Amino acid sequence: MSTDATPAAVTPERERDVVAAVPTGLLVAGAWRDASGGGTLAVDDPATGRTLTEVADATADDARAALDAAVAAQADWAATAPRERGELLRRAFELTTERAEDLALLMTLEMGKPLAESRGEVAYGAEFLRWFSEEAVRAYGRWSTAPNGASRLLTMKQPVGPCFAITPWNFPLAMATRKIGPALAAGCTMILKPAAQTPLTALAFAQVLLDAGLPDGVVQVLTTRSAGDLTAPLLADARLRKLTFTGSTPVGKRLVAQAADNLQRVSMELGGNAPFLVFRDADVEAAVEGAVLAKMRNIGEACTAANRFLVHADVAEDFSRGLAERLAAMPVGRGTEPDSKVGPLITREARADVHALVAEAVEGGARVLTGGEPLDGPGAFYPPTVLTEVPRQARIRTEEIFGPVAPVGTFTDDDDAVATANATEYGLVAYVYTRDVSRAVRVAEGLQFGMVGLNQGVVSNPAAPFGGVKASGFGREGGAEGIEEYLDTKYVGLAL
Ligand code: NAP
Repeated sequence: MSTDATPAAVTPERERDVVAAVPTGLLVAGAWRDASGGGTLAVDDPATGRTLTEVADATADDARAALDAAVAAQADWAATAPRERGELLRRAFELTTERAEDLALLMTLEMGKPLAESRGEVAYGAEFLRWFSEEAVRAYGRWSTAPNGASRLLTMKQPVGPCFAITPWNFPLAMATRKIGPALAAGCTMILKPAAQTPLTALAFAQVLLDAGLPDGVVQVLTTRSAGDLTAPLLADARLRKLTFTGSTPVGKRLVAQAADNLQRVSMELGGNAPFLVFRDADVEAAVEGAVLAKMRNIGEACTAANRFLVHADVAEDFSRGLAERLAAMPVGRGTEPDSKVGPLITREARADVHALVAEAVEGGARVLTGGEPLDGPGAFYPPTVLTEVPRQARIRTEEIFGPVAPVGTFTDDDDAVATANATEYGLVAYVYTRDVSRAVRVAEGLQFGMVGLNQGVVSNPAAPFGGVKASGFGREGGAEGIEEYLDTKYVGLAL
């Protein structure tokens, strides 16, 4: 993700204007409307604790209305020419790019990450629209002769049907476009439920879709404080054909169970616990560079965040010192400040959780190379932190940290390192630094993860299949695989 956009000063007036321009209702059947119960939900700035605005608080009745609209629009959307569907996505890509500054500022205000990173997410999120605008015309079927020659076998790809997408707060745009892009390309209609903490980016993006010419009912957006109440009637309705979820593993497990009654198709992008392996032959400077990205992207609040650093004992000191120096030099501040590199965590509760992991490790004997204490002030700021000599039983060695904390451990044997990396219920991404090609292949093959970053600290790419194994879920987003999640294969046998 590019984070090199030129920082610009943001005035309070500009903040107000950008927030005021966001539609705050529910998008159902092509129109904005209030929640059926008339309720609203406050959206806060995690850097100041102040409320930015209120948005509609959808109820179960709104969910049913949204599903009715998605079902009503499904047949026409599926019958819309693939090129036309692709062109809608292409216009959405262009409008998202045109509105990048406003979308980035909204994201920073509601989520906290520095503006340069929000700009990076807008560019990354928009790329899914461009990628799937190109994939819309490539849902190929097959024609073959049965082995006994008596019939012909025709396979065709058809849209799964109305889908429900639930997204988390940490990537408010990209997690939505990564689902809406392939769903629309495949000919599926959709209901999107963004996270309660970050609905503004999704609402502004819904307006992008409308301005790009979205037909009524093809995408609905429901914001709510009662995610469970909204989800239950949708999954209980067999007209809904697919659930696509990005979020935590415990919630994902519950949703898979709920979707079982109607056997809706399910894609799950869940939690991670990424190991970051640095072998003895690695370019240590490059490894530190990659570690800064893999750890600090999104303030550490990413499913792909490096969570456990495993470094060969011969280079561990150089690596830890280099990482601590780089992290200590990152300015912490509100994401709208031009030189901020580390914004606030999403809430003070989230910060307390991160600090509890650090404090427990330190009490058990871990050494703090930098950071380690929450920062004063109204926002949920936590400084970049590097820990070494973390005790074996410390929770920070096994739990997803979701903050700017890097625990560094050591190893001396390759097989032990891979075994330690695999000793987690999660399996989303692993990072590997080595200059030895054979070792790279051996280790990449041995890692039980859906993705491996080889000598690179970022794996996310719209043209690649993003996803995990084990408790990190199943299904892939992006790449040629992404659209398959929204397509069923039908086979027609033709007797001669
Ligand atoms: P979360 O609590 O699971 O929330 C994610 C989404 O699920 C939110 O929209 C939330 O709504 C909704 N939700 C919560 N309870 C629900 C229920 N009972 N029924 C239906 N929806 C429900 O996760 P989070 O804390 O926001 O996000 C962080 C997690 O996401 C981390 O574990 C991270 O690793 C994971 N993540 C994974 C990926 C990936 O691609 N693998 C990407 C990003 C994040 P509310 O906002 O209203 O609670």
